Amino acid sequence: MPEPRVAIITGAASGIGRALAVHYAGLGVRSIIGSFSGDPHDPQETLRLVQAAGGEAVVHEVDVRSTASVDAFAQRAVDEYGRLDYAVANAGILRNSSLTEMTDARWTDMLDVDLTGVLRTLRAAADRMTEGGAMVATSSIAGGVYGWQGHAHYAAAKAGVLGLIRSVAVELGPQGIRVNAVIPGLIETPQSLDPVNSLGPDGLAQAGKDIPWGRVGTPAEVASVIAFLTSADAGYVTGQSLIVDGGLTVKMRA
Ligand code: NAD
Repeated sequence: MPEPRVAIITGAASGIGRALAVHYAGLGVRSIIGSFSGDPHDPQETLRLVQAAGGEAVVHEVDVRSTASVDAFAQRAVDEYGRLDYAVANAGILRNSSLTEMTDARWTDMLDVDLTGVLRTLRAAADRMTEGGAMVATSSIAGGVYGWQGHAHYAAAKAGVLGLIRSVAVELGPQGIRVNAVIPGLIETPQSLDPVNSLGPDGLAQAGKDIPWGRVGTPAEVASVIAFLTSADAGYVTGQSLIVDGGLTVKMRA
C-alpha cells in the first residue's frame, strides 16, 4: 500500500478550500487546513467535516502575506505526516475599488495576498516535495478571462496567477512536480456572498439565471476539479488552467 498523500490548502476554513479538504478526505488524502485569524470562518468546522468523511487533517494558522508563516505551514505537512504531495494556493481576498480610488496601498495589499501569496505557497511547497507532486492555484474568470469594473487589482492578480503557474510548471517539471490553475466562475462562497465587494446573495441569484447551466456553482464543484488536477489522472497535465463556470464564459451575448 502506498503511503497516503498529504496536501496543504490555504484558505481552507471556508468556501472552496473547505470543500477541497472534505473531498480529499474521501480520497484518503490528508490535509493541512490553512486557517486565517483575520477572518471569522471556523476551521474546526472544516476539520469536523473531514473527520465525518473518514479523513485525517490538522488545522494550521497561516497568513499568506508572510513568507515565514507560509514556510511554517508547508513544513507542518512534513512534521505531521512525513511528506508533502499536493499544494493548493487557494487563499484570496476580493475588494471593490474603482480605478480613481485605487490607492497604491489598495493595489499592493491585494497583490500581496492574491498573487504574491500564491508565489509564497508554491515556493514553500516546492522545497518540500521530495518525491514529486502537484500544485494548483486558484485564479478567477475575473482577470483569468474577463475584465471586471471596480476590481482591476483583483483581476490583475488573478491574471498574474496564470503567468506564474505556467512559468513554475516549466521550472518544476524536471522535479516531477506538476503546476496548474483552476479558474472558477461564479461560485457561492463567503467571498461572492459579500454584497459590498462582490455580487451578494441577490446578485448571485440573478447572475445564475444567465449561466447556461442555470445556476451559480458550488464549492464542491470546484474542489473536485482541483482534486482531479492533483491526481494521477491528470499526470501529463501541467502549466494549464481549467475553467469551472457552468458555461458562463462561452455564452455569446448579442
Ligand atoms: P472564501 O472567502 O470562503 O475563501 C477565501 C479564504 O482565504 C478564506 O478562508 C480566507 O480566510 C482566506 N484568506 C484571506 N486572506 C488570507 C491571508 N492573508 N492568509 C491566508 N488565508 C487568507 O471564498 P472562496 O470563493 O472559497 O475563495 C477561494 C478562492 O477562489 C479565492 O482565491 C478566490 O479569489 C477564488 N475565486 C472565487 C470565486 C467565487 O465566485 N467564489 C470565483 C473565482 C475565484
